[in-house]
Amino acid sequence: MSEKEHAVRALSEAWRQAEQVVVLTGAGLSTASGIPDFRSPGGRWENYQPVTLQAFLARESAREEYWRYKGETWELISAASPNPAHDALTSLARANRVQLLVTQNVDGLHERSGFPPQRLINIHGTDSLVECMDCRDRAPREVGQRQWEEGCAVPCCPCGGPWKPAVISFGQSLVAADLERAFAAARSCDLFVAIGSSLVVGPINQMFSQAKQAGAQTAILTRSATDFDALADWKLQDPLAEVLPALWARLSESAAGTNEPA
Ligand SMILES: [Zn+2]
Repeated sequence: MSEKEHAVRALSEAWRQAEQVVVLTGAGLSTASGIPDFRSPGGRWENYQPVTLQAFLARESAREEYWRYKGETWELISAASPNPAHDALTSLARANRVQLLVTQNVDGLHERSGFPPQRLINIHGTDSLVECMDCRDRAPREVGQRQWEEGCAVPCCPCGGPWKPAVISFGQSLVAADLERAFAAARSCDLFVAIGSSLVVGPINQMFSQAKQAGAQTAILTRSATDFDALADWKLQDPLAEVLPALWARLSESAAGTNEPA
């Protein structure tokens, strides 16, 4: 058995025995769905400076620039589909093997793979909705996007206020209740699994430390190195669209009572 197979087997056994499993997902989960890091070198948006919430609220030019970025990138996001890693996580949750999934992604692919919404926190918001900066009403992203595609530089709500995709922008606070729920779950789980996250964006990367300090077993399934790798019980760098279906296959076998040689 290879080292990787051994790790998958050990992690699936820990997952099978855990009563509370909390998962944190990041951008690495969606790369197999064709969603790149839009600001990576060589890309069209390499030199794009993120528009802060404060700038968006203050200046029409900032609102227009933000919508140019969001309008273009949504074309890729809306055309993407969940990959086998998203689907494996959905299967795990439906089998009561994931109590809470916190995602840093705003692409909506967990929802589109059918992940139970009551077990999902979009900690950085979602690109799938727009939110009015005046009345706070929300609408499907497609409604705002259509306005933008028809030439409106800053789509707006029926009340006249500017719509912004419902992501947490730079300079914008996370939702306090979501943060509290995420950290409480991290502190009370038996197994914490970070997937496709480089664990650099705070404060949510502290879910790892809080879970570890509370005595949970921990796994990091991320291709790149993270600051927390040395503390994790398992670190796997394999493609997520392979390793998560493999984990789900082992767990569904054991749930069905299949006897396997040790
Ligand atoms: Zn409004």
